[in-house]
Amino acid sequence: MKAAVLQSGRLTIRDVPRPESTPGHVLLKVLACGVCRTDLHILDGELPALRDALIPGHQVVGETAGGKRVGVSWLGGVDGTCPYCLRGLENLCDHPTFTGYNVDGGYAEYVLVREDFVFPLPAELDALHAAPLLCAGIIGFRSLRVAGVEPGDRVGLFGFGSSAHLAISVLLSWNCTVYVSTRGASHRKLAQSLGATWVGSEDDKPPVELDRAITFAPSGDVVISALSSLRKGGVVAINAIHLDRFPQFDYDKLLWGERQIRSVANMTRTDARDFLELAARIDLKPRVTVFPLDQANDALMAIRKDSIDGAAVIVP
Ligand SMILES: [Zn+2]
Ligand SMILES: [Zn+2]
Repeated sequence: MKAAVLQSGRLTIRDVPRPESTPGHVLLKVLACGVCRTDLHILDGELPALRDALIPGHQVVGETAGGKRVGVSWLGGVDGTCPYCLRGLENLCDHPTFTGYNVDGGYAEYVLVREDFVFPLPAELDALHAAPLLCAGIIGFRSLRVAGVEPGDRVGLFGFGSSAHLAISVLLSWNCTVYVSTRGASHRKLAQSLGATWVGSEDDKPPVELDRAITFAPSGDVVISALSSLRKGGVVAINAIHLDRFPQFDYDKLLWGERQIRSVANMTRTDARDFLELAARIDLKPRVTVFPLDQANDALMAIRKDSIDGAAVIVP
């Protein structure tokens, strides 16, 4: 099969053996695979390489041999026995499998996945529009949960890439008012058109104190901006697997008053099922830009440069 293979810091298109089906796993024909910023962190070595050669990609829409359409996300498996799994915190499992990181992912014509980690997809969504829901959507949704968003809250989204542009629709369905701070005029325009109450650039401060904020950029400075926009008791959830650095900040001014900073780690299967059900109910449809598998490097470059609105999706 054809696949994009990451080796020695380079992603190249090659012919590789098609994976063999094994017990407990299901072989999927890949219909579409979303590109995530995490793929870029893996490519750049900001997440340590775990394998010599790797097929990235963890927002996979695939078809089973029986013709059933399913989704696969970042969490590709857990041990089910560690203290975190036993507490229902499988997102923190001590021995997790991550699709497209410690096992091969969906930048390929076929992918082998654990059969208990595939999700049925809403019939309303075609493969292209379902793919970005599978990490950008699910983990964005988890970020809202981690931030403790309640109906009617004032919520800040800092950064407006593929995850935030899905989160805003979820927030509006909960009657929240949404304040978006992001670089790039086209991202601001998109946020406005999707229903943000206020839109500003990176250096602008929202005109009201926020109940919750979610940061999407891999930048510690953005976390501090979000923190400085919160009311007492407010929460910042960081939706980023990697931050460039974490700046020093003034505890008395920014964190005191029971403000909280929380990271968002991975996802659970419950997050996935709850989010996909909600997405179908509110008719959530991401903006997508399509790249053929041969152009996987261009798709990653588009994410790096923040040059497209919405999500990038690779099609074999
Ligand atoms: Zn991801
Ligand atoms: Zn576990």
